[in-house]
Amino acid sequence: MEFSIHDHASETYHPCKSARDGDWIIFTCPVCADYERRINWRTEELRVKGGKPEIQHSGEYIPGEYKHAFTATN
Ligand SMILES: [Zn+2]
Repeated sequence: MEFSIHDHASETYHPCKSARDGDWIIFTCPVCADYERRINWRTEELRVKGGKPEIQHSGEYIPGEYKHAFTATN
């Protein structure tokens, strides 16, 4: 399983860092201190904070050590 975010609204591109916090995959931008996008891997709920519409944010989260947890829920 792989989680990714891709906004295609603009040509300004910021690669995001990703991390996992409990049920949430959290994407943060090293440039935009206020930007944060969260995806709940259980419910697929999406929450976005900060960021600017003219800036494209893209990131991926590939669970490695958590594969066991993902397969266990399916
Ligand atoms: Zn940014």
